[in-house]
Amino acid sequence: MAEPKFKRVVLKLSGEALAGDVGFGIKPPVIEEICKEIKEVHELGVEIAIVVGGGNIWRGQVGEQMGMERAQADYMGMLATVMNALALQDVLENVGVPTRVQTSIEMRQIAEQYIRRRAVRHLEKGRVVIFAGGTGNPYFSTDTTSALRAAEINADVILMAKNNVDGVYSADPKLDADAIKFEELTHLDVIAKGLAVMDSTASSLSMDNDIPLVVFNLNEPGNIKRVVEGENIGTTVRG
Ligand code: UDP
Repeated sequence: MAEPKFKRVVLKLSGEALAGDVGFGIKPPVIEEICKEIKEVHELGVEIAIVVGGGNIWRGQVGEQMGMERAQADYMGMLATVMNALALQDVLENVGVPTRVQTSIEMRQIAEQYIRRRAVRHLEKGRVVIFAGGTGNPYFSTDTTSALRAAEINADVILMAKNNVDGVYSADPKLDADAIKFEELTHLDVIAKGLAVMDSTASSLSMDNDIPLVVFNLNEPGNIKRVVEGENIGTTVRG
């Protein structure tokens, strides 16, 4: 069996990944498909931390557009990520993967608080750690959380799982027939060209800390394992 290319990964799952076709809410059968793949990767001995988004339930920007104070709406978004994390934990444990959820905002009845050294210890012991609550700060995103946690736990890579998009394109391939897919990019390319990979705060943090990412299609079964084993799918973004 091939040695996995990456030993410790941060898997970024958007909230939409848990919602299925409708794009809203939480669909346990959809989550189960993802969790079975995570289990396969876990069985390779890869240490897995997951950062989960909340866009399937609530986004701060949407609240702001509807007249709410941005920070207040963002805290609601952070809470949405906690619901997703608990759903993921439930399904992962059902398929036999040991997990811990750590929240950046303390909620001790339902999860541990985020403690970096403790998170690393869990990973070393073979537990999948799910980071919930984003960074714990409004005006940030869960993409930025992925970059931050990846730097903190010394992850080898961020696996940016996308819904029905197989990498980074020069333009939206659904709207522009001439759009080309990039095999490799630098974080600076992403920022300078304004490519839709992650927000600019997340890209800057990844660039400054030399964290590579692989952007790939989550909806193609087996892709998480393919990326971890070093197969050249999707788009790789480096420092
Ligand atoms: N959020 C935040 N700070 C963070 C992470 C997230 O305020 O550090 C809020 C923000 O309102 C965001 C929402 O949580 O819109 C959901 O996160 P995100 O949009 O990153 O989720 P995804 O698009 O990955 O589902």
